[in-house]
Amino acid sequence: MSVNTTTTWCDPVTCPFCGDKLASPGAGFIDHIHDNTDCERGFDHWRENIAGDLAGEWSG
Ligand SMILES: [Zn+2]
Repeated sequence: MSVNTTTTWCDPVTCPFCGDKLASPGAGFIDHIHDNTDCERGFDHWRENIAGDLAGEWSG
């Protein structure tokens, strides 16, 4: 997994946008952004930025 492209995303169980602990890496983060509009927006923006590098990486 190569998510360390443009963001300071070094801890997979911590939300990089608000710093909250996640229940689990990946799936826990998806649940988290569903509950946190600001984080979801941040994630959408981040994903757009790296879309060229990681096409489809986060589609699950
Ligand atoms: Zn968050």
